[in-house]
Amino acid sequence: MFEKEKLEIIKAGMKLDRYGLVSLAGGNLSLRMPSGEILVTPSGMIYEEMVADDMVVMSLDGKVIEGTRKPSSDTEGILYVFQHRPDINAVIHTHQPYATAISLLQDEFRADLTTLGNACRGNVRCTPYSSPGSVEMGMDTVKYLGDSLAVILSHHGVMTVGDSLKQALNAAVYLEECARGYLAARAVGEIRHLNDEQIKQTVEIYKYVGQGHGAIPHELLGRIPGDGEKQ
Ligand code: 13P
Ligand code: ZN
Repeated sequence: MFEKEKLEIIKAGMKLDRYGLVSLAGGNLSLRMPSGEILVTPSGMIYEEMVADDMVVMSLDGKVIEGTRKPSSDTEGILYVFQHRPDINAVIHTHQPYATAISLLQDEFRADLTTLGNACRGNVRCTPYSSPGSVEMGMDTVKYLGDSLAVILSHHGVMTVGDSLKQALNAAVYLEECARGYLAARAVGEIRHLNDEQIKQTVEIYKYVGQGHGAIPHELLGRIPGDGEKQ
């Protein structure tokens, strides 16, 4: 059952490791099938050692449909996200160190780098602390996500979401790239911000980046001056 999708999840898990977003068995991935079942990675297993049969097929209300492994310890929170956001088909949880470090300093990661506008659709909020394995992890994800594709779980890690595994993976990888740049700058000085209008523009423009989209409409590309800057 769902062999192809199970292998896609394992491949995405190995990418989390490759991009430094998890170590060993940290984090987890889950994917909603068009027929409604949720595929969840097994608890505490290393992605590069996983095989398709290690994946657990679950119903939206948490019953195991197929699989002999114990599903992720975060399953209750993960299922909460799928239950409350029918538009979301993929949830990735990581322990990516730079993005997580931002939650030790502040309540929001502002999209002052355009890549964040692209990959996460704007600013990324940090949730209050909740314990790993708790349903609150999922409740806070839903509460703090808004239109964004990521939240930072304070003192723990990151949750990214998407209409596909690829979109959730992009959000996680590029969020980390931005977090590295941001923290490098913050370590040596004051951060200069994009204003809300500039951030909105990057989010709109990036909807046209990539295959399968038309060219960027010209009227979206006007230069928006920064706060306090002369027109
Ligand atoms: P699992 O391996 O049980 O999914 O746990 C990893 C994790 O990141 C807990 O928050
Ligand atoms: Zn975790």
